[in-house]
Amino acid sequence: MYKGTVGSAGIAIGKAYLYSKPELVIDENVIPENMVSMEIDKLKHAFEVTHNQIKEIRDKASDKLSEDDAKIFEAHLMILDDPAFIEEILNIIKKESISASNAVKKVTDSYINIFLQMENEYMKERVADIKDIGNRILENILNIKSDSMNNFSSNTIIVAHDLTPSDTASLSTSMICGFVTDVGGETSHMAIVARSLEIPAVLGVGNITGKVRDGDVIILDAVEGNVIVDPTEDQLEFYRSKKEKFDKMKQELKKLKDLPAITKDGRQIEVSANIGTPEEINKVIEYGGEGVGLFRTEFLYMNRDKLPNEEEQFLAYKSIAEKLCGKPVIIRTLDIGGDKKLPYLELPEEMNPFLGWRAIRISLSRHDIFKTQLRAILRASAFGNVLMMYPMISDISELREANKVLEEAKLELKKEGTLYNEKMKVGIMVEIPSAALTADIISKEVDFFSIGTNDLCQYTLAVDRMNERVSKLYKPFHPAILRLIKKVIESSNAYGKFTGICGEIASDPMMIIILVGLGLDELSMNPASIPMAKKVIRSITYERARKIAEHAIELSTAEEIVEYLNKILEKRNESRD
Ligand code: PEP
Ligand code: MG
Repeated sequence: MYKGTVGSAGIAIGKAYLYSKPELVIDENVIPENMVSMEIDKLKHAFEVTHNQIKEIRDKASDKLSEDDAKIFEAHLMILDDPAFIEEILNIIKKESISASNAVKKVTDSYINIFLQMENEYMKERVADIKDIGNRILENILNIKSDSMNNFSSNTIIVAHDLTPSDTASLSTSMICGFVTDVGGETSHMAIVARSLEIPAVLGVGNITGKVRDGDVIILDAVEGNVIVDPTEDQLEFYRSKKEKFDKMKQELKKLKDLPAITKDGRQIEVSANIGTPEEINKVIEYGGEGVGLFRTEFLYMNRDKLPNEEEQFLAYKSIAEKLCGKPVIIRTLDIGGDKKLPYLELPEEMNPFLGWRAIRISLSRHDIFKTQLRAILRASAFGNVLMMYPMISDISELREANKVLEEAKLELKKEGTLYNEKMKVGIMVEIPSAALTADIISKEVDFFSIGTNDLCQYTLAVDRMNERVSKLYKPFHPAILRLIKKVIESSNAYGKFTGICGEIASDPMMIIILVGLGLDELSMNPASIPMAKKVIRSITYERARKIAEHAIELSTAEEIVEYLNKILEKRNESRD
């Protein structure tokens, strides 16, 4: 049995699929003339193998996929079989005396550039197809085993060293029942995506990719954080029953979804959801979310070749606002950098990316990107209850600078006669201790705060949220964190502003009690946790939560606080039995 961190709760039993990203090393040197014919043979052979592979995938896909989806592979074959395509590559090999791989790269890159310039959206979408084919040909030239991420059998458990948020988001998930990775922690973006997809994930297991072979049967106990490879019959039986119980409990909790989150003595807390794509709104509604407390807009910028334009963004924001029918949606401006990269936006390699050029820092130095997004959000604000917040604010001057660009965007829209909500509420995320400590100053110029404990913990405790080696030091119940949260809520209350929390800890039952006790107004979490959060809030009085929070915050260590809260939860459970 191997141990890791729970990234997304649940139990999964399935077959391992070892996912690895092949490294395509391309020889860019000029080659001797006598090697040209060899490179030509290599190219022709690679085309043949690629053709056969795509045909095989197409035949398999036609059984499983809808007609439209299966057509993708027909399109791939058409591109591959176009004689002009191979002719162009052959010509460059001969003319420039370069390797087959180098020539394929050059030709596919030039095709991609041409397609990107086209006005026609359908043609632009073909870029992904060309990239896919180009990579497949390259893998065949370089003799690299390809991982077809979209060609799984059912109940597949992806075993990977690491998965980027865009890897995870782009997976065809219907066949996947679990994820296990060597690296990554509970608040990595990979975990966040797994939670929204409701796929169990155990992360940071160490060298799991070295221990598992393709096709091995695996049990993921993503409640305890355990991974069992090649289980015995007894283990399989035990976990099948555990899975059944877990899934049943999830269904039971869902019954609470439409009830308000109101304490026994009448204090109402808003329970909202964190989402990354407009499609997730269905989950928010399914689980009884009272709004969206965090829309991570960066996912709109991922899995593509260039920045989304104003219209695309506007349509995405507008569709969320409309689907929520008057319930609030808090749109966070672009939070890129750190572990979230955009291939087309050249972010410099940094020693400490989480302390570097990320989030609002990028927006404030790239007004072109920032203002496009602000205009899109403002335009969407005319179609629903839209609020907006800036990520990674460290002090009031950054807020002012961002608001200046917002005013410019408003003025432009006004001049154009475009509709927007002049009174759209603007807040900040509190993710940096300096913002929490100066919340009394910032309160005067914001409408609300949303505390991002994922980053607040990492910056307060100096613990990389992605590094499992130091994950033991990542303690959201650390007295320092609780004190910072208290400070923000008090400052915000003093100015009549509202305070929410959208870090992952917002769905922890023990933390919920503390947060309610500290006077928080809103909790935002992964949609599936909403019914449980409502259950916790509905089972306690505000008065009692206040006393618990008061006591907890005076304790000396995170361990003491957790022990105290555990005892309280145990007692409550016993008294209910
Ligand atoms: C946070 O830092 O708590 C947060 C919600 O933002 P993200 O996880 O996207 O960095
Ligand atoms: Mg953050």
